[in-house]
Amino acid sequence: MNENVAGGSTAGASNDGGLSMPRLVPTAARGWGQGSEYLPALRLHMARLSFWLVMTASFGLMAWLSDGGRIDAKTAYIMVAVNMLIVAVLEQVIPRVPGNNMFRDRQSLRDLGHLFFFKFVCRPFAWTITLAIVGFIASYKLGAERVWPTNWPVLIQFVLLLLLFDLIGYWYHRLLHSVDRLFAFHAIHHDTRQVHMLKAVRVHFAEQFVNFILVVTPFLLVGCPPSLLAWLGMWNVFESNLAHSNVDQRFPSWLHYVVRTIDVHYIHHANDHKMQNSNFGGLPIWDLVFGTYRHPLDNPVTATGIQGDPVPAGFLAQLAFPFRAQLRAAVPAPMAGSSERVLARGNAQEGPGPTDREAGALPPEGA
Ligand SMILES: [Zn+2]
Ligand SMILES: [Zn+2]
Repeated sequence: MNENVAGGSTAGASNDGGLSMPRLVPTAARGWGQGSEYLPALRLHMARLSFWLVMTASFGLMAWLSDGGRIDAKTAYIMVAVNMLIVAVLEQVIPRVPGNNMFRDRQSLRDLGHLFFFKFVCRPFAWTITLAIVGFIASYKLGAERVWPTNWPVLIQFVLLLLLFDLIGYWYHRLLHSVDRLFAFHAIHHDTRQVHMLKAVRVHFAEQFVNFILVVTPFLLVGCPPSLLAWLGMWNVFESNLAHSNVDQRFPSWLHYVVRTIDVHYIHHANDHKMQNSNFGGLPIWDLVFGTYRHPLDNPVTATGIQGDPVPAGFLAQLAFPFRAQLRAAVPAPMAGSSERVLARGNAQEGPGPTDREAGALPPEGA
């Protein structure tokens, strides 16, 4: 199943004189050894090891800084900063798609704006509402707080938490893509002709607000230890930063079924509606279970973003955008993601827009 993409890339290498690998099929997945003959050995090894090194370094340092497994706010902020710094450096040293670069993307400041707006303005309210819901339900003394298996080994508890957390996230994310008016809130995350680490935090505050309440409330209700939720939160940050990063990575083919690699999530960011309606999960398992999984080596991506670029460029306009969209009689078709009508139009418009090459998502004409 992998020959198609691999073969295409190798042919591209020959046309290029066999000198430079990174320009070949820049937005398609790269296999474990694909193009290795054109890459310096050090770069190839870095591409193979970067995922493991980043995750090990991030979690190792956090385990060291945490107080017996408890993570305070200061440690969390330090770790987020350290993780982002490591990924940002790797993006510069071994870029996945030449031209994708947070330092040359004029939307990067807006991406950070969405992060800070939610973290410092909205999240306190989300916490208040979550605790109020938990307190209200707990007042009925249903005994739900004894459901979580606190006597299980911590690692097993973490895996269970991760799977359940991701199950909720999967259906929430799929719902956002299934209802056109809800997609207006999610569109900001997808309206990205470049994909790099900062796109992980380019999420509308209203989407994050609901997401926070949805994923935190049930686990507090059933008695999941807050320290375990804190570790889950850090996993979420580290994994999401890597899944959106522009770091060249090489994985064995089977690993795309186990973790959400960059290539797996890149398919979800494709501007092709059919591809966008796949790979919803933070882990591939729920996409495999519910039939929405696409493997990177079978699904090369030609361009990312949303056809028609419906999201405005300004930060305040982006905040207002989904609310204004609700006032319209119908959500503009290029933005919507799911209906048959929209799918039909989207398929008819397949192919990169005129600005794809300017944005660096595709190689220049004639390359
Ligand atoms: Zn999405
Ligand atoms: Zn994403």
